[in-house]
Amino acid sequence: MPRPIHAVIHTQALRHNMDIMRTRAADAKLWAVVKANAYGHGIERVFDAFRAADGFALLDLQEAERVRALGWRGPIVLLEGVFELRDLELCSRLGIWHAVHCDAQIDMLAAHKTHVPHRVFLKLNGGMNRLGFKPQSYRAAWSRLNALPQVEEISLMMHFSDADGAPGIAQQLAVFEAATEGLPGERSICNSAATLRFAASDAQARQDWVRAGIALYGSSPNYPSATVQDWNLLPTMSLRSAIIGVQHLQPGDTVGYGSRFVADSPMTIGVVACGYADGYPRICDTGTPVLVDGVRTRTIGRVSMDMLAVDLTAAKAQGKPADFGSEVTLWGQASASHGFTVLPIDEVAAHAQTLGYELMCAVAPRVTMQTQ
Ligand code: PLP
Repeated sequence: MPRPIHAVIHTQALRHNMDIMRTRAADAKLWAVVKANAYGHGIERVFDAFRAADGFALLDLQEAERVRALGWRGPIVLLEGVFELRDLELCSRLGIWHAVHCDAQIDMLAAHKTHVPHRVFLKLNGGMNRLGFKPQSYRAAWSRLNALPQVEEISLMMHFSDADGAPGIAQQLAVFEAATEGLPGERSICNSAATLRFAASDAQARQDWVRAGIALYGSSPNYPSATVQDWNLLPTMSLRSAIIGVQHLQPGDTVGYGSRFVADSPMTIGVVACGYADGYPRICDTGTPVLVDGVRTRTIGRVSMDMLAVDLTAAKAQGKPADFGSEVTLWGQASASHGFTVLPIDEVAAHAQTLGYELMCAVAPRVTMQTQ
């Protein structure tokens, strides 16, 4: 028998979040961002729910091929573009659009002998200083691309570095508008945070395409100032395990490596089949929220490779005497028999000093995934 740990991917929640983001996107078209294997969910597991998108945005050509293999005939865009000439061939063959963010990629396009012209997204570096042409070189890059017979259509894009911060977003929006003023082509600048932030009536800010990732996966892009409940988003991934051991402690007893937790009164703890080798952050020692049989409690002591400990006092106090085999929800939603209680991934991520993005993407291959 495998260890009792698995991740559940909630199809209805994926659909629900898609509806929410579609409403927020209003008239703009929506890219469902499915890079990093759909933020750890598995492209094949999210595909049906995300068919309602206008296109799929990702990074790897291999992932793009998987989306085509699922029968998707609509737009696909590679957010970082291509890195080798032969990749352009595959883009032509599969009808994949791609970002262009540097001169080397324009050189590659110029060298590509093809009868199937490319559709590209010319990326502006609006202040993030990750990828893209700086505002002063953006128009020259556009002109170079426009002169190439290999390029059929040029769209304009930027990625916000501060979509969750008011001054940053306004400033970068102004940079984008100045750099692209008068240029033809569709425009795309908003990620989840920006799409949620701009009022539905603000069509100018949302432009032609929004690119929604994290919100579709039920994590708030601007936690803790706004939670998933504020945006009415539902958890799409639940990491669940079970209690595989129980220990009764006396005052002075310690728990786990480094004896970091010392009991100050008699207590019962459960040992859970989940550790950092499953993708649960090691930093989440004493105090990180977990659900035992749907009742909220906390981790105790250090997280080890394959196990962690949880305080069973809270469950007992609520008349749910958790024991060997009890369900433990590390994040997401408890099962139906435990009332679907929710522990937002953002809360756990905050304890790990990270974001929901990282936790979802870090679930280890040894954790089996089920779709519900
Ligand atoms: N657009 C680009 C270029 C990205 O790199 C990402 C993700 O990092 C997104 C859109 C989606 O962002 P989010 O998951 O915050 O919605």
